Amino acid sequence: MSKRVVTLAHYYTQPEIQQMADKVGDSLELSLYAKEANADIIVFAGVRFMAETAKILNPQAEVILPDAGSTCSLVTQTDVGALKAWRQRHPDHVHVSYINSSAEHKALSDWIVTSRNVDDIIAHLYAEGKKVIFSPDRNMGGYLNDQYGYDMPLWSAVCEVHDKFNEAALDEAFAAATGEKYLIAHPESPLPVLKKADYVGSTSGMLGWVKNFKGDSKSVIFVATEDGILYNMGLARPDLDLRQAPIYAGCQCNSCPYMKMNTIEAVKRAQAGEGLRIDYLTPEQMDAARVPIERMLDFSQRYYA
Ligand code: SF4
Repeated sequence: MSKRVVTLAHYYTQPEIQQMADKVGDSLELSLYAKEANADIIVFAGVRFMAETAKILNPQAEVILPDAGSTCSLVTQTDVGALKAWRQRHPDHVHVSYINSSAEHKALSDWIVTSRNVDDIIAHLYAEGKKVIFSPDRNMGGYLNDQYGYDMPLWSAVCEVHDKFNEAALDEAFAAATGEKYLIAHPESPLPVLKKADYVGSTSGMLGWVKNFKGDSKSVIFVATEDGILYNMGLARPDLDLRQAPIYAGCQCNSCPYMKMNTIEAVKRAQAGEGLRIDYLTPEQMDAARVPIERMLDFSQRYYA
């Protein structure tokens, strides 16, 4: 009997990959889909931490990453031994980790969050009187501290893609554009960029903002996130002038090199069973990492029901 293969693709992969996928989404949507997927093989056109999350949530399935090199700077900038020591220096704090982290990192966490639910989960913890440390994204944590007056100690890693957005290039682009101008931004971007934004939110949140945009259709909407999402935004609202926020004058060129390793050929090979099998996590590692992920999923189901 042939094996049931399900292909998942993140919004940041190229359009042709998204067209090959059974499900396209952001980290949270794909995690939920992977958990419920009735599949023998899950091909994850994304990056390694996403494929690991799929395996943790659906351990019966064989999970394949098309290109073994598809990592993430938030993972490579985090030494897990140093993270463990940092956590031990804050024994009375709850450790909240962004989903963009390795399985080992997740296993050292009390809660996992995505860019969609991070505000609500941390507000919930503060409302319960908890003290929080946040890892690994210092831009996201810094934004939350600034926005809500928190005092979370932060781990110091960044997304090498979003961290390139900058105020100077944005100011120039705004000055050059005519008519109404808007900026929507992902919270992995630096704080000065986020402070200028009309909307800050997850990839899906930004897509929703664009879909529901009711302003003048001649407006220029700058989007501070990876360029892959411009494809989905363009499909949803072909009437709008959507431009990726520049990282320097004239550049609409900020791509994630790891996401773009998911070539059509690599995804087809993965569908045929080749690629990096996520078979290196021990049952103990997966059990430990699953606890904070499930905590987030339970919270999301209750809170957003
Ligand atoms: S866009 Fe940034 S956070 Fe996302 S996978 Fe690439 S490096 Fe990691």
